[in-house]
Amino acid sequence: MSLRGVGVSPGIGHGPAYVLTVSVPEPPEGMTYTGEAEPEKDRATRALAQVAGELEARGNQAGGEAREILKAQALMAEDPGVVVKVRSLIDHGLAAPRAVYEAFTKYRDVLSGAGGYLGERAADLNDIRDRAVALLTGQPMPGLPGDPPEPYVLVARDLAPADTALLSKEHVAAFVTEEGGPTSHTAIMARGMGVPAVVACAGATHLAPGVHVLVDGSTGEVRPEPSDSDVSQAYDAAVAGRDAVGAVRGPGRTADGHPVPLLANVGGPADLDAALARGAEGVGLYRTEFLFLDKGQAPTQQEQESAYRAALEAFPNGKVVVRTLDAGADKPLAFLPPSATEPNPALGERGLRLFRRYPAIMDAQLAALAAAAAGAAVSGAAASGAGAELLVMAPMVATPEEADWFARACHSHGLTRVGVMIEVPSAALRAGDLAGAVDFLSIGTNDLAQYAFAADRQLGAVSALHDPWQPALLDLIAATLDGAAGTPTGICGEAAADPAMACVLVGMGAATLSMSPAALPGVRAALAAHTLEQCGIAARHARSQATAARARGAARAQLPGLGKLGL
Ligand code: PEP
Ligand code: MG
Repeated sequence: MSLRGVGVSPGIGHGPAYVLTVSVPEPPEGMTYTGEAEPEKDRATRALAQVAGELEARGNQAGGEAREILKAQALMAEDPGVVVKVRSLIDHGLAAPRAVYEAFTKYRDVLSGAGGYLGERAADLNDIRDRAVALLTGQPMPGLPGDPPEPYVLVARDLAPADTALLSKEHVAAFVTEEGGPTSHTAIMARGMGVPAVVACAGATHLAPGVHVLVDGSTGEVRPEPSDSDVSQAYDAAVAGRDAVGAVRGPGRTADGHPVPLLANVGGPADLDAALARGAEGVGLYRTEFLFLDKGQAPTQQEQESAYRAALEAFPNGKVVVRTLDAGADKPLAFLPPSATEPNPALGERGLRLFRRYPAIMDAQLAALAAAAAGAAVSGAAASGAGAELLVMAPMVATPEEADWFARACHSHGLTRVGVMIEVPSAALRAGDLAGAVDFLSIGTNDLAQYAFAADRQLGAVSALHDPWQPALLDLIAATLDGAAGTPTGICGEAAADPAMACVLVGMGAATLSMSPAALPGVRAALAAHTLEQCGIAARHARSQATAARARGAARAQLPGLGKLGL
């Protein structure tokens, strides 16, 4: 019967399950056996011979130095002295697992006492002991396989980055873990490696070691002992899905034609080609601070103007949303230091707050933007009869007064389309008041999660709180979209890059979605596969759940087109 978890890295993987155990538990002290001593002794001897054989085979496969090391380890597994000790402990009534455990522990202590090279081999004895005990008690083998003959499906309760650091796509066909979420290390690392992964898959570590499994990193299905036709069908469907995603072109829209402009997040002119290649309809977030992170002094107006103009000219008929400098916290700019040492920089003078202290820097940026728009309009009109639409927005806005102050500053430079980002819970809760001061809003889900969950976005230890499916984050997004109804509100945080979440955001009323260019095709295809009504239903189901994993599962269950697209 299939197991089901949360698919966090799309694609199909297939191979023998390798169930990783952190350690093999010690067999209970005084553990006895029923029946005759002789078969129990044979059982122990056979297990040790199997361990030796596997170690030697692996050494032969790896070759080189590993061959010698593993050969020595194999010899230790069948060391006559230890085998005699095991058999004598069984004669005294101990069951085979306990006898192996005690004999090898004793042998290990003797070696450790010897020190030097022999002492260093003590750890090898633990490994042999654990392997033999695992065999005798029917438990999975400890540690990662050395150099497997075929790619395997790595199954574990959870995986630490250290477990997987040396793994590669050639060795691992898929990851399956019982714990973890969409932003867990396993998920992030698997996506980075391009290996399918399923997390939060209850019962996965009870899969029989070596059993073949078929893993679908999109739907979260883990199927033991699939037939050949199951496997080929799954691969064919994945290829078809990839082709289907690639075949969806044109502007973003739902299956019933509701338009959702799909925009790109860029950090400078170098990102514009990728955005155009993936069919971006404009720029939804131009992170202007990226242009100046390595500069010791304020950029000149001229430098800024040409960087902004490049984006406007790349999208002569589209819109370009430029965010004013979001300096401070994780993106400090040398020429814009905060007024004092900040114990909590993410809560300090960052984003718009710094402009309050440096009005001349703000004026220079707004003037450069106005000049870029004027220049691009002239060249755009000459080239195509149209010009890109420039929109300007401020980061880290917390109150309507700040929004109003920023809008006035923009207007004084002739910039007419002004917005603010919703990244702070206070702004989300009073989005209607902020919307009154500006023309549009853009929700930054990355910082909104950071501030809603009091979880530093740079800290791996709290990354689970940055799962965009967290129901509280969904509620804050919904509060913004509902509160600002009538004012166009888009999403430009990482959340928009998840095809299922993109549908949910549109279902909640997001007007535009902006993301890194690589995510555009998947999101475009996901929207095209579902109606606006389906998106709305998916959003309601997600918000009715209490946990991130359940919210994601509930939404996906309402979005049947995702599986067909392999998303
Ligand atoms: C955000 O916070 O969601 C956002 C888009 O801005 P940045 O990631 O640049 O802080
Ligand atoms: Mg932000």
